[in-house]
Amino acid sequence: MVIMNTILYIGEVQSYLTLLGQRLRYAHQLVRDKRWLYPQYHDNEHTKIKKPDELEREMEDPPENVDKSILDRIQGSMVGMALGDALGAPVEFRPPQYLLVNPVTDLHGGGTWGLNKGQFTDDTSMALCLGSSLIARRGFVPYDQLVRYKWWYKNGYMSSTGKCFDIGMATCDSLLEFQRRQKNFAEKYKISLEQLDFLSDFDLLKKFNVYCSNSGIAGNGALMRLAPVPLFFYRQPIAAIEFSGCSGQITHGDQKVYDACRYYGALIVATLHGESKDHLLSEKFYQTHKAWFGNQRLHKDIQMISEGSFKRSGGLMDGIRGKGYIVNALEAALWAFWSDENSFEKGALSAVNLGDDADTTAAIYGQLAGAYYTYKNLPQKWLDHVYAKNFIQCLSKWITYEGSKWYSEHVSSATKKETK
Ligand SMILES: [Mg+2]
Repeated sequence: MVIMNTILYIGEVQSYLTLLGQRLRYAHQLVRDKRWLYPQYHDNEHTKIKKPDELEREMEDPPENVDKSILDRIQGSMVGMALGDALGAPVEFRPPQYLLVNPVTDLHGGGTWGLNKGQFTDDTSMALCLGSSLIARRGFVPYDQLVRYKWWYKNGYMSSTGKCFDIGMATCDSLLEFQRRQKNFAEKYKISLEQLDFLSDFDLLKKFNVYCSNSGIAGNGALMRLAPVPLFFYRQPIAAIEFSGCSGQITHGDQKVYDACRYYGALIVATLHGESKDHLLSEKFYQTHKAWFGNQRLHKDIQMISEGSFKRSGGLMDGIRGKGYIVNALEAALWAFWSDENSFEKGALSAVNLGDDADTTAAIYGQLAGAYYTYKNLPQKWLDHVYAKNFIQCLSKWITYEGSKWYSEHVSSATKKETK
């Protein structure tokens, strides 16, 4: 909890975020030396994209060693998410009644999408887009995040099959809206189409409205890809939590989405700060971390979850549901974590066996549980089959490395200057 000493008091949060915002302008530089952060193709016509397991061959580790215990949590969260996703993919959309009779007990291929054992779906693909953006931009640039989601949707960037084979309706609508806005923006500011996906001018980017969704759009698609944000910014909880909310709202505009992402982001941040499971799942979590939330209250539906509504021992029989509504999804993932008896395997299977949006409930569970139990404690029999595991592990190293650099360059020096 050493880092907490640098955190400012509640009254100073607003001015701190303003200062941080000014400094963030420097985080918009594009990193172009890592080709694996950008779409690459096997052919000149760009019909066959290189998949993550092909990109991992050209990746290199960061130039300096990173903190091993933090890396273990970050890799645990990223791979835990991919595991939950792959575990639930074969039964996605199956109703709970089906899973009561045919429970998932192990990792399999086939089923809903006909994937190979260990291949992941949209949840992990979008999270890899988000992680790549944080590394490529050395910070939080929502415009670039949307560009990468668009690359995934249109070209299969970061997909486990090379194609986008599954996209939620809200995400699809927002990405189509983003493309419309990009086109209008290019005409208005005379930007060439080649340049459009690679804008780095801070003043220009400020003019682009990245909120491509509307109030009332509250699907779990925002939460399923969240992890890279709290993992990258955990050293500065106020920024990590505000960015968590914003990362969801650019495609899912409802207040409940913003607050579900802020709350779940805060839980992942607290996990990286070494907090115990009792603290994480305490009904007082929000109260004891109020400063992290900029003192902004949570939406009442999210507040109810933060106060323990997920603690229902009957699970499905007690009304826990793995549905696409973000409030259900958040509650279900936390129920799985609360009732897993400290076993990732048990928790991930419980999340999947709720049925409905099984892969997403388990991917959300995996982000937090993986960070808490750490990579080395994930089930080895499943780890052997995670698609593009080396890519995810190496990307996690870069998240750790660039997150640390971001903190020392943009936050610790800002704090020092402010307190001089
Ligand atoms: Mg999915």
